[in-house]
Amino acid sequence: MKFLRYQSPHGPAYGVLDSNGIVHALEGSPFGDNRTGAQVGPLEELRLLPPVEPPKVICVGLNYADHVAESNAKMPEMPLYFMKPRTALTGHGSAIVYPKDSTIVHYEAELVAVIGRGGRRIPEAEALRHVLGYTCGNDVSARDWQRKEMAQGFLLHGKAYDTFAPLGPVVNTDLDPSDLAIELRLNGEVKQKSRTSQLIFNVPRLISDLSQFITLEPGDVIMTGTTSGVGPMKPGDVVEVEIEGIGVLRNTVVPET
Ligand code: MN
Repeated sequence: MKFLRYQSPHGPAYGVLDSNGIVHALEGSPFGDNRTGAQVGPLEELRLLPPVEPPKVICVGLNYADHVAESNAKMPEMPLYFMKPRTALTGHGSAIVYPKDSTIVHYEAELVAVIGRGGRRIPEAEALRHVLGYTCGNDVSARDWQRKEMAQGFLLHGKAYDTFAPLGPVVNTDLDPSDLAIELRLNGEVKQKSRTSQLIFNVPRLISDLSQFITLEPGDVIMTGTTSGVGPMKPGDVVEVEIEGIGVLRNTVVPET
């Protein structure tokens, strides 16, 4: 099933995307009992929201070897994490706001795992049973701030601006995450291209590792890291993250007013 969230006349609502691009109401919760309800309309006519409301947005840095190399970083010996606030979330079709106080804002295409069933100290062999599904993410990064703070051993400001965590368009609940094509296009030009088989720490490893010290909760999202080819965006740009089996997450960059 591919589910999403959209702005209905009555407020945010969950929907199900069918194979013809038509959205139907989702009765119940994607995290519990649910069934497909009445037709709502074509996907492109709806205002999409982030497909889940995560209690936590957990990100993994330096998780593709080619990105470690382009970052002039050391190969990680263990998964390296940071977090984004929920206020950074935004949906497919919405704006990424280019902050007034940054001059280097980069895109980062990422596979995002959505936790369905929470837990602590989850064994790697059971980890995928805790996943509800997968979506596309863009770990938008203000590199000028990121570099300054990382020089002191911190990482938040450069990653946490409002709209710096676009997610969507849908969560696919029937997907094997082990070898999916992932691509990023800026104004139609391919900038990043890889496969999730290239992850240094794969999805089961990340879930198991994180759950050793964090209680994972339903809806938590794990942004699994980006491949090489990161680069700058500017206001007016259209950025697309496409992952096999999920779809295209498209956002436009707008200046902060
Ligand atoms: Mn990233």
